[in-house]
Amino acid sequence: MKDVMLQNTISLKTGSTVIERVETLLLDLPTIRPHQLSMTIMQSQTLMLVRIYCSDGSIGVGEGTTIGGLAYGAESPEGMKLAIDTYFTPLLTGADADAVPAVMARIHHAIRDNRFAKCAVETALYDALGHRLGLPLSQLLGGRQRDQLPVAWTLASGDTGRDIEEAEQMLAERRHQIFKLKIGRRSVQQDVAHVAAIKQSLGDRGSVRVDVNMAWSELQARQGLAALANAGCELVEQPVASAEALARLRGRYPIAVMADESLTGPASALALARAEAADVFAIKIEQSGGLQAAQQVAAIGDAAQIELYGGTMLEGPIGTIASAHVFSTFRSLQWGTELFGPLLLTEEILQQPLEYKDFQLTVPQGPGLGITLDEERVQRFRRDRTQGASVSVSAAAVKAH
Ligand SMILES: [Mg+2]
Repeated sequence: MKDVMLQNTISLKTGSTVIERVETLLLDLPTIRPHQLSMTIMQSQTLMLVRIYCSDGSIGVGEGTTIGGLAYGAESPEGMKLAIDTYFTPLLTGADADAVPAVMARIHHAIRDNRFAKCAVETALYDALGHRLGLPLSQLLGGRQRDQLPVAWTLASGDTGRDIEEAEQMLAERRHQIFKLKIGRRSVQQDVAHVAAIKQSLGDRGSVRVDVNMAWSELQARQGLAALANAGCELVEQPVASAEALARLRGRYPIAVMADESLTGPASALALARAEAADVFAIKIEQSGGLQAAQQVAAIGDAAQIELYGGTMLEGPIGTIASAHVFSTFRSLQWGTELFGPLLLTEEILQQPLEYKDFQLTVPQGPGLGITLDEERVQRFRRDRTQGASVSVSAAAVKAH
């Protein structure tokens, strides 16, 4: 062990650890039930995994995941794989693996946007560095403030009775007591009735929040926010698309307004803060464009006295635990997190599943991400193994979303 540490010190000084190889793969995993959002209904989730192999034998893994293919944003798992294979890999190969911010700066200079793919690559670089140094990712990012994170559950079956049953089950299992309802597919009146029925059934045993995913006009939002506040809903996430409309709605009703889709990294965080457009930021590592960028968003939120929430792109276990490490370093995390992505999947791809207990997710203590992939299961769910030609598989995946 001492020898390994000595070796690491030497390689850090000489910068001799270089990136040798980059591998990307797509995994298709089924979800436990259809997941309804205003813009799509998900039946399965596709994980883009990137693995970075370093010259000292260390390996790092990162994940790029989206909600419903291209339904949520400009990047898709397939597109990320293509971008990394074609454009990121030549910049990474041969680079100093220890100089993560410098490698990322080189990538940011050469490649515009592609925030999700950048986040996956940055995660893999830090995971490998953590393994080399024997330190958890949270330590590399400045150190954690908490070892457990509260985790909300999203009720999105589309059926009020089924959602109440699901919430009761989560309370009984002590897994979740914060519930986020996905609304915006039906009329405002129908949605508000759905939310009010669930809140009335749960009472003080569970808190209820909603995510409209930008589906409302400003007029609908004015009606909706007033009615939701009356129904005991404590927070509404991105009711409208524009930051200007968010700013006009915030502070008008006794309900917190949270920015999600409008928050796409530090520059947008500053703009939202300036416009006083949000009470709460939903910070996502992929939307922010990486781990360090997510920390910058948190710092801007803190400085503007905007409260913080740890968001999800419904990542699998790798992206989820990378998020957990980042969120564990935030000074404030007033609204907890929604890091339940792996619980939406029917298949486990880790040797040791993530620990969800007493309404919280445990941030691992091991080096890097602190998780180990179950390689046999990873290989089993690879798209290029489970199906034939990639063209026919892509068509099937699009249809499923
Ligand atoms: Mg959202």
